[in-house]
Amino acid sequence: MTKTVLELAILPGDGIGMEITKPCVELVQAALQKAGEPAANENWLEAGAGAYTKLGNALPAETIDGCRKADAILLAAMGDPEVRYPDGTEIIPQIDLRFELDLYAGVRPVRSVPGIKGPLADPRGNQLDFVLVRESTEGLFASVGKGTRDDDQATDTQVITRKGTARVCEFAFKLAQQRKARGYVGEVTSVDKANVFKSMAFWRDVFDEASEGYSDITKKYGYVDAVAMEMVRRPWIYDVMVTENMYGDILSDLAAGLIGGLGMAPSADIGDEHAVFQPCHGSAPDIAGTGKANPTAMFLSGAMMLEWLAVEKGNKNYDRAALFLRSAVDDAFAEGTLVSTERGGDAGVAEISAAVGQALVSLNNNDRRIA
Ligand code: NAD
Repeated sequence: MTKTVLELAILPGDGIGMEITKPCVELVQAALQKAGEPAANENWLEAGAGAYTKLGNALPAETIDGCRKADAILLAAMGDPEVRYPDGTEIIPQIDLRFELDLYAGVRPVRSVPGIKGPLADPRGNQLDFVLVRESTEGLFASVGKGTRDDDQATDTQVITRKGTARVCEFAFKLAQQRKARGYVGEVTSVDKANVFKSMAFWRDVFDEASEGYSDITKKYGYVDAVAMEMVRRPWIYDVMVTENMYGDILSDLAAGLIGGLGMAPSADIGDEHAVFQPCHGSAPDIAGTGKANPTAMFLSGAMMLEWLAVEKGNKNYDRAALFLRSAVDDAFAEGTLVSTERGGDAGVAEISAAVGQALVSLNNNDRRIA
């Protein structure tokens, strides 16, 4: 039987984007091959501050079209603080794409990689495994391009809709169910500010309504300020968290700090039709071109993409490819000798890519971690 060839849209973007995308795509291809699947077709597309400077458009129509046609979209990072619209804001095609493709669930797994010490003294801080789900199409970001500004005042309005909240809360409850089936506790925490804002009290009501279909999952609540404190004090208490767009933006960077830095934190923006996989970090212009970037978050985003494709396409081999890639990352760091520059070591893109590539080759097909 002929096997399906995956169509991948690849958007390297700006700054360290290209540096980390090339080795990531090589690893994704190697993982597919190891799982017995044909190489994916790669459609490399332009978007970002570079595209804006060159073409006058940060997200060209051909790029959107290529993304729509793809089975999945792999994106590195976009933006350059030097490239701005006349109103002072930066170009943000990675966010525009979320609106364009209706990618409403921003999934931020927070998993400690063995061998990489987090900043917390408590040993439980090195065994974190929870997921932050960030609503990605509204909230304060509904105001992007629509805020007002005059000499005396500027406003950005937060918009929380029933539809937007219900679907992301449902997503979080379903995710908690899937995790519970794999042995996790089965809890969803609504992170909001329902004590102060009408929009957030409304969010909480819709969260409660969404929870009704999931009697096997425990629902919890936390105010965002207290949750920020708990995420430092005892982050291991969380299973799945769901929150509005801006709180999720901030808390996911805090969460990245807990597992060793932005270079370790993968993410996905998932909708009903499309999904983009990209690291949590930006284009890191301060280290672009130096080879110092840690490409691990990009690799782990590639693994998330394969995992998502396994469900979408009903093909368990993609799950195996994801497990190969994630296990290779774990093995590369397990000894504690591979230390990225963001952690004070000397391993950058080349060293980390080579170590993960070598670990992937060495992985045994019967490894207990590979289903
Ligand atoms: P950033 O994430 O690019 O960098 C923050 C700090 O973390 C920098 O010191 C950087 O060197 C470091 N860092 C980030 N990724 C790293 C990696 N893989 N390895 C080692 N160190 C890493 O955030 P910023 O500096 O606030 O923003 C830079 C640009 O990126 C801006 O134009 C911003 O708008 C854009 N941005 C894009 C995205 C995205 O594409 N999703 C997200 C955040 C910021």
